Amino acid sequence: MKRISILGATGSVGQSTIDLIVRAPEEYQVVALTGGRNIARLAADAVALNAEVAVTAHDDLLADLRAALTGSGIAAAAGPAALIEAARRPADWVMSAIVGAAGLAPGLAALEEGATLALANKESLVTAGPLMIETARRSGARILPVDSEHSAIFQALAGEDRDAVSRVILTASGGAFRDWPLDRLAQATVAEASSHPNWDMGQRITIDSASMFNKALEMIEAREFFDFAPDQIEVLIHPQSIVHALVGFRDGGLMAHVGPPDMRHAIGYALNWPERQALPVEALDLAAVGRLDFRAPDLARYPALRLAREVMRRRGLSGAVFNAAKERALDHFVAGRIMFTDMSMVVEEVLEALSDTPEACGAGLTLDVVARMDHLARMRADQVVTARRT
Ligand code: NAD
Ligand code: MG
Repeated sequence: MKRISILGATGSVGQSTIDLIVRAPEEYQVVALTGGRNIARLAADAVALNAEVAVTAHDDLLADLRAALTGSGIAAAAGPAALIEAARRPADWVMSAIVGAAGLAPGLAALEEGATLALANKESLVTAGPLMIETARRSGARILPVDSEHSAIFQALAGEDRDAVSRVILTASGGAFRDWPLDRLAQATVAEASSHPNWDMGQRITIDSASMFNKALEMIEAREFFDFAPDQIEVLIHPQSIVHALVGFRDGGLMAHVGPPDMRHAIGYALNWPERQALPVEALDLAAVGRLDFRAPDLARYPALRLAREVMRRRGLSGAVFNAAKERALDHFVAGRIMFTDMSMVVEEVLEALSDTPEACGAGLTLDVVARMDHLARMRADQVVTARRT
C-alpha cells in the first residue's frame, strides 16, 4: 500500500486527487489531509478515506474539527505547526496543493523527509526554487510536476537527451478576457475574472489566468524546475486548452502533449509515475475538437509576462517578491480596492522597489529569508495600494 498525504485536500486539486484515491482504496493508506475553513469537507473526506490525521490551517477551528471527527478515531490538529507536522509524517507520496506561498513550508518539510512530492503549488518553485531542488537532492526526495504544462513538458522529455532541447512552449487559454477590448479591462469585475473558459479551478488561480499572472508564475516555475534558460521559455495563447505544452528540439522537431483540460490526468500521472495506469479522463475526440489555434500573447494585455522575464533574469529573492506582491494585489482586487489592470502595476512597483535591496541580494536562500522577503513585499504592496487610492 502506498502511504499518501494531501496538503490542501479541500481545494480544487486536492478534491481531484481524492477523486482518484477513492476509486482504488485498497491501494492507498491515507496519512494526513489538510484544509482551511471548510471543516465539513475536510472531516467527511478524512472519514471516507480513513486518514490518520486531519489538519485545518486555522487554530480557531480546532474545536469544530474535533467535533466533526468525534468517534472516528481520526486525530485532529490545527495551525501552521500542525501543517508542518502533518507534512513530515512518513509517507511515500505527498500532494502539495495548498494555494499560495503558504504551501512552501509544508512542501519543503515533506521533501526533507524524503517523500515524493507531487507539486501543484507552483508558488514553492517561484519563491524558493533552488531551496526546493537542493532540499530534494540532499534527502533523495523527488519532485513530480502537477501543473498541467509542467507535467506535459516532463512527459515530453521522458527518454530524451536534455542537451537536445532548444525551447519549450507553455500554452495559455488567455483567460476570461482574452477577447475583450483592451480599454474595457480596467472595468472587469471580480465575478467576471473568476470564470475560466476551459478549466474548473480555485478562484485565485482563475483570476491569475485572466491576468496571466498564472502563466508568469509558470514561466518561472519552468525555469526553476527544468533549469531552462529564460529565452528558451515561450508562451502561446491556445484557446482550446488541448495542447498543454510543447518541447522543441535542436533538429526542429516539436513534441506536443495533448489531452482534455482535466487535472486528473496530470495528478494521476504523478500518482502512478513511473507507470501509466488507466484514469477516469475523457478520451479526446480530435475530430469533434476540429481545430487547434495558436497566437502570440499581446504584452499590453498581459504585462505579467514581461514581469516574469524580469524575475527569471534576476532570480534570487525576486520570485518571492513577485509572488507576494501578486498575492496581495489579488487580495486588493478581490476586496474591490483596486482595478483589474492595477494588479500588474502594483506588482511592478514592488518589484522595482525591493528586488535590488540589500535584503534581496545579500542573503542565501533559506525559508526564513524567503518568509521575511515575502512579508516585506506584502507590506510594500499594501503601501502602493494605499498611495494609489489617496
Ligand atoms: P483552491 O483555492 O481550490 O484550494 C486551496 C487549498 O489550500 C484548500 O485546501 C485550502 O483550504 C488550502 N489553503 C488555502 N490557504 C491556506 C493557508 N494559508 N494555509 C494552509 N492551507 C491553505 O486552490 P487550487 O485551485 O486547488 O490550487 C492549489 C494549487 O495548485 C495552487 O498553487 C495552484 O496554482 C495550483 N494549480 C491548480 C490547478 C487547478 O486546476 N486548480 C492547476 C494547476 C496548478
Ligand atoms: Mg498550469
